[in-house]
Amino acid sequence: MTRIALLSQRLANQIAAGEVVERPASVVKELLENCLDAGADRVEIEVEQGGTKLIRIRDNGAGIEKADLGLALSRHATSKISNLDDLENIASLGFRGEALASICSVSRLELTSRARNAQDESAWRVEAAGQEMNTAVSPASHPVGSTVEVRDLFFNTPARKKFLRTEKTEFDRLDEVVKRLALSRFDVAFLLRHNQRAIHHLDVARGEQEKQRRVALVCGPAFVENSIRIDIEASGLRLWGWVSLPTFSRSQADLQYFYVNGRIIRDKLVSHAVKQAYKDVLFHGRHPAFVLYLELQPALVDVNVHPTKHEVRFRDSRLVHDFLFRALHKALAGVRPQDSLAGHSERIAYAPGSVDPDTGELLQSGGSEAGEFSGQGRISFNAPSYGGAPSTGSTNYSSFGSQGLTPTQVADQISAYAELSKDEDVPPLGFAIAQLHGIYILAQNKLGLVVVDMHAAHERITYERMKESAANDGIRAQPLLVPLSIAVSQAEADCAEQQAEALLALGLGVERVASESIVVRQIPVILAAADIEQLVRDVLADVREHGSSERVSNYQDELMSTMACHGSVRANRQLTIPEMNALLRDMERTERSGQCNHGRPTWVLQSIDQLDKLFLRGQ
Ligand code: ADP
Ligand code: MG
Repeated sequence: MTRIALLSQRLANQIAAGEVVERPASVVKELLENCLDAGADRVEIEVEQGGTKLIRIRDNGAGIEKADLGLALSRHATSKISNLDDLENIASLGFRGEALASICSVSRLELTSRARNAQDESAWRVEAAGQEMNTAVSPASHPVGSTVEVRDLFFNTPARKKFLRTEKTEFDRLDEVVKRLALSRFDVAFLLRHNQRAIHHLDVARGEQEKQRRVALVCGPAFVENSIRIDIEASGLRLWGWVSLPTFSRSQADLQYFYVNGRIIRDKLVSHAVKQAYKDVLFHGRHPAFVLYLELQPALVDVNVHPTKHEVRFRDSRLVHDFLFRALHKALAGVRPQDSLAGHSERIAYAPGSVDPDTGELLQSGGSEAGEFSGQGRISFNAPSYGGAPSTGSTNYSSFGSQGLTPTQVADQISAYAELSKDEDVPPLGFAIAQLHGIYILAQNKLGLVVVDMHAAHERITYERMKESAANDGIRAQPLLVPLSIAVSQAEADCAEQQAEALLALGLGVERVASESIVVRQIPVILAAADIEQLVRDVLADVREHGSSERVSNYQDELMSTMACHGSVRANRQLTIPEMNALLRDMERTERSGQCNHGRPTWVLQSIDQLDKLFLRGQ
């Protein structure tokens, strides 16, 4: 063993750099936080080779006085706190006074600055390379604010350099850091260039529209078009932002931004609440996308003293969880076809000179093409009533007739449709024109062509109705004129016997009549058209999968979802135009009707714009 010795300043900084400076993205994070702490409202970020060659960040903040320049690069030098009380009321993003010292111990760094209230109105520069600091401060030219230039990251620590990934990967991470901060500070303009190419050009966003435009530029226009804007306040908490429609789910949890009082966080409690809220509507294994801001009294939350750790501690975590869950659940339940159409009409106009997040191309001109719907919120609807389709209870689209239609009948229906569409008030999902391959309904609305997956849509409507009646006065059942006996396995019969009462609560009356035989005596009215035998078999299979000892009420929703699937119109059922229209109207009235019980979309829109593009019209 050798003797104990104090580490040299340089080695100590390089060790500290191991924690703070992992890769170019972490350098950008530290430097940007310094700009924001200095009160800048414009930051320009210039990057080369994923940040490994060059990172240059310029801001228009308060700047640093000549006398302090050298100190800024020293370890444990900060202007942000001076005593323990300050530490407990941190308002700045940084405070440890380590970032610049660490960064310059593993790179060639140049800091140029002009302080806002400097007497001599001139700018000064210091340089350091791998801790070899040139203590001389040299004159420079710079407007009020600072520029930090970091070249050749890890040039003197080859072992660290080896851990860097490809240029693209490093840049993507760095870009993510910029996006996170850009979404947290609408009042600051952010510009990012990579290898001389403009990546982001985000002007200060003031009003609602401009904020939405920034979100679209950062997260992609599709996200904003497919999300709901929420703003909910209750018991001292406010949640606002954008949440994706369940149909815009993603295979990874990569488009999720959650801010608490302006700081980005990743928190278990928050993710849990969000997950719960999407539970009923999201396709299994998919992730929602969101940009959300939670605001609450600072005293109700411990912002972690480690700004790099994205965790917070809520005083009343139960309250926050329930608030988040309720707010999101309600917002998602309220989604009707007209809401996503409304989003569609408010096309986002991109400012000239901004960058299209999808193609990375610079947009030349503002492209506001708000459709004819713009400015119109909900569209009123006064459809003629169709006989045989009561609006509640047991609408049964499939019973209208399954015979094929003659060409004259089809022609009649088309002209009936033409009559209808003369009406000014076209409902959101429009009027049916035809049925495609016995699977899809084609309808025309003001924006273009609506394609509806008949079965998926009907399934959701049936499911929501069952849930509603189960919650209100119970599911209405009707006795079968001729009870149906089904041969089952002994285990299934056992299960039916044990759960008979619980199944009855779901409207399903089954009775065991022999060791391997059961009889169905009644079924829910809503499912009158179902294939009863298959329905009962599937329900029993579901119950057994859950272990028949568990209470059925624990997964009642799931059972109802299975039942709804059977009770819904099947493919290859020929529907008449009025039946199709009745289904469209029901979708407009039903909660969560944008996706079926499995989270797949129930309808899509091909706008005239999109069709024009397909056919290269007007180009
Ligand atoms: P910290 O941010 O934790 O204080 P840093 O090492 O990041 O530590 O920065 C050290 C000090 O340098 C800061 O406290 C601040 O006074 C000054 N500084 C750094 N960057 C800037 C900047 N862009 N504008 C003004 N002052 C800055
Ligand atoms: Mg800092």
